[in-house]
Amino acid sequence: MPDIIKQLPDSIANQIAAGEVVQRPASVVKELMENAVDAGATRVKVIVKDAGKQLIQVIDDGKGMSESDARMSLERHATSKIATAEDLFALTTMGFRGEALASISAVSQFELQTRQSQDELGTMLITEGSAVKKQEKCSCPPGTSISVKNLFFNIPARRNFLKGNPVELKHITDEFIHVALAHPQISFLLASGDEIIFDLPTGKLSQRIVNIFGKTYQQQLAACTEETTSVKVNGYIGRPELARRTRSEQFLFVNNRFIRNNYLHHAVMNAFEGLLPEGSYPFYALFLEIDPKHIDVNVHPTKTEIKFIDERAVYTVVRVAVRHALGMHQMVPAIDFSGNINLMDSISKDQPDYHRTVLEEQTGNRVNVSGWQSLYESNIDQSDVRQFSQFSATERPSSERVLFQYQNKYIVREVSNGLMFIDQQAAHERVLYDRYLLHMKNSSGASQQMLFPLTLDFTPSDFILLSEMKSELDALGFRLEEFGKQNYLFTGVPPECSGSEKQVIEGLVEQFKMNQNELKMERRENLARSLSKKAAIRRGQPLSREQQEGLVRGLFSSANPSISPDGSPTYFIFEGSQMDSYFA
Ligand code: ADP
Ligand code: MG
Repeated sequence: MPDIIKQLPDSIANQIAAGEVVQRPASVVKELMENAVDAGATRVKVIVKDAGKQLIQVIDDGKGMSESDARMSLERHATSKIATAEDLFALTTMGFRGEALASISAVSQFELQTRQSQDELGTMLITEGSAVKKQEKCSCPPGTSISVKNLFFNIPARRNFLKGNPVELKHITDEFIHVALAHPQISFLLASGDEIIFDLPTGKLSQRIVNIFGKTYQQQLAACTEETTSVKVNGYIGRPELARRTRSEQFLFVNNRFIRNNYLHHAVMNAFEGLLPEGSYPFYALFLEIDPKHIDVNVHPTKTEIKFIDERAVYTVVRVAVRHALGMHQMVPAIDFSGNINLMDSISKDQPDYHRTVLEEQTGNRVNVSGWQSLYESNIDQSDVRQFSQFSATERPSSERVLFQYQNKYIVREVSNGLMFIDQQAAHERVLYDRYLLHMKNSSGASQQMLFPLTLDFTPSDFILLSEMKSELDALGFRLEEFGKQNYLFTGVPPECSGSEKQVIEGLVEQFKMNQNELKMERRENLARSLSKKAAIRRGQPLSREQQEGLVRGLFSSANPSISPDGSPTYFIFEGSQMDSYFA
């Protein structure tokens, strides 16, 4: 038998390595930005086109590379950052694996221009799938500019696997934010096509946070510092009332490297316990400094996971640090604009009818929302009623029929063949879903004007997402307008959303994105599903008899009363005969 094992050519080995390091355009953005930071840049510009699928360019004013280093930088395991194994335990740079450029250039059309300040001319290098196409001297500013074009042009399967532009752009802004937060002393710019998404001047961390997330954060941040012999914590947490429905504004850094770590996330959440509405997540950007000997960052190619030698000790420090910050700043709700909104939220939770009785003003399609009942009754016709009557205990008028709410979760209703248990949340989701689809079709959604218009700021990609959905949102009854660069001003919402506008809107965006990513849902379908999920009454919410009746009627006016939009059952019937058998 001849020998059959061969060394893979570099181009293929690099492509394989790229599978780990380069998952999507955002991974390229991260690696190139980190390289710029490692090169001592004071200003870093990131330009993407077509959400990075067409172009990712990163320009820095760092120390640049010599001609031979430029060539070397594309080799695998080529790095200037470590030389010995010991160095691995004393890392001060973001990079060290010497893999990124080799990997990126293996799966793109790659262009590098670089010059060291003492040199008169710089070097230009063009490669395509690792093959060098051109190398020559060039005149260029000191520093490095790398253009990555048509990522995965040579791996169609990977390219097709990329998500739509809003999703990829969101990943890019996420990575950009991670690097920008960790280096407020460097100015960063991010542009998507002609649009500048972020232009961040240098400054303190708090200023960087405000520049990224918006002015509303100014009053809402509390400094968080704590130091023990092994760990130092620094950074900011957001007031509890700044908390959002999403986990997207939570940042943990270890030795200035953004990491994901559920255990430490839990430490923060634990410190916030009792201060947050259920299902909401506080802002935090915490920086841990730990002796590199006590951690291992080399466990994952993208370096976002690390191992701690003594994870528990770190947990405790983080928790205590956040606790102190919360206590020190006496985080009671602020009596500013956003504070009022929160106050409204909590009132309306206790008294669902508060807004409806206070607010007479209606905007857009005027409807008279006199109570919950009308919310469920909108599209009932006779055939629907017939459908339900097959279950009904027809011999007695409805007011005498058994109807009650059990555990504030289920509506129990007497029907001809037994007792029907209706899951109130699933049922309401069905009712709302049907209604929303209809409203989008006919542009017939009612709108309820808000007492206090609400300004919400969004990440750039969420902002874009919202503008894409604007006409559907209008049709559903939302009244919103662009307000500054990243903000939307909401003045009206569908009636059933009032009282928890902020949660519903933010939740809607998150849910929409999730559905888009995971289920590839058509936009209207997705919107109807997402909004019904977020606006539906919850399990645990007490309902009056009228509300219970309204919900039951609404459910059975649906063409699909037995399942919620995402397929879970809305009711089941405990049959009388079954009951009899227990006593036989
Ligand atoms: P690593 O960052 O792990 O060392 P990379 O593949 O990202 O590996 O980069 C390889 C080498 O190329 C770096 O060690 C550095 O010497 C050089 N390099 C990369 N990007 C830049 C840059 N923007 N400016 C100066 N040198 C750079
Ligand atoms: Mg690197």
